[in-house]
Amino acid sequence: MAEVLVYVDHVDGAVRKPTLELLTLARRIGDPVAVALGAGAANTAATLAEHGAVKVLTDEAAEYADYLVVPKVDALQAAVEAVSAAGSLAAVLVPSSAEAKEIAARLALRIGSGVITDAVDVEADDKGPVATQSVFAASYSTKTRVSKGTPVITVKPNSAPVEAAPAAGTVEALSVTFSAQATGTKVTGRTPRESTGRPELTEAAIVVSGGRGVNGSENFSIIEALADSLGAAVGASRAAVDAGWYPHTNQVGQTGKSVSPQLYIANGISGAIQHRAGMQTSKTIVAVNKDAEAPIFDLVDYGVVGDLFEVVPQLTEEIKTRKG
Ligand code: FAD
Repeated sequence: MAEVLVYVDHVDGAVRKPTLELLTLARRIGDPVAVALGAGAANTAATLAEHGAVKVLTDEAAEYADYLVVPKVDALQAAVEAVSAAGSLAAVLVPSSAEAKEIAARLALRIGSGVITDAVDVEADDKGPVATQSVFAASYSTKTRVSKGTPVITVKPNSAPVEAAPAAGTVEALSVTFSAQATGTKVTGRTPRESTGRPELTEAAIVVSGGRGVNGSENFSIIEALADSLGAAVGASRAAVDAGWYPHTNQVGQTGKSVSPQLYIANGISGAIQHRAGMQTSKTIVAVNKDAEAPIFDLVDYGVVGDLFEVVPQLTEEIKTRKG
């Protein structure tokens, strides 16, 4: 069976959920071989093995943290060459984070193949891997394949379930020779973002968003309370962000983040095309809006016509009561 390289996104050995989702997709195409780089890379092996990695290639060189993406591209190229030399490589799967997308594009160029970004599904037919993308503000779904070389595919978070699939997860050291460009751009400092204790917006299984209808930064506390009752991330429309009510890092949409959670709850958001572009692939969409004609109701699974200041606190209380 062909092998599929999976680039591991981890923090000091703790594997992030989108990587486990990639392993689910990788198993549909071939045998997943994970590539974990940087401090703690070897510690990822047990988790990766539990989710289907037959092999884990690791390298803990300091260069991965000290410089921008090129050392990681060098390492993935080395992994592509090693796996291709030993057998056949069907695809390279990479999470759709900003950094990983840059790595994917550079890697595809290096290995003379093509890159497909922001896939929401990956499967294989008799000609090889086929990626599904959601395009034109999620109005259309397209199927795409790379016609030359090994496809490099970035996959959006929440595109596949995390599945337990125990495999060997044999750890092997990856031998990497860094290119002349690897040390070109040095990282001089990192400022950790203040933690809210909530999940990362693009990775969250549930997102609760507020728009202009929330009518002030102080009122976002009711959106946060609903989010916290569900263990959700908080999102915001551009109108709410432009008004200074919520940080830009939480903006959902064309010029914000693209989310694809199991459940998206839009509160006081009209459903403009630019907002839809960032949330339309959510599995279940709920909206609370006092205007029954609001366009958001065209795409919801469940809609509540009502004042969010009445509906949202009641919903939060009900969820808390049911959770006990
Ligand atoms: P509005 O459209 O004003 O809607 C507010 C809604 O709240 C209304 O439907 C109203 O009925 C409802 N409401 C009011 N009070 C209550 C209440 N008490 N209870 C219940 N409902 C209530 N927008 C984004 O969101 N993300 C983007 O990334 C983005 N990128 C853009 C890029 C470009 C190039 C452009 C031109 C625009 C972009 N926009 C983006 C802006 C987008 O066009 C809309 O202006 C924006 O999404 C509107 O935000 P909103 O739905 O919160 O506000």
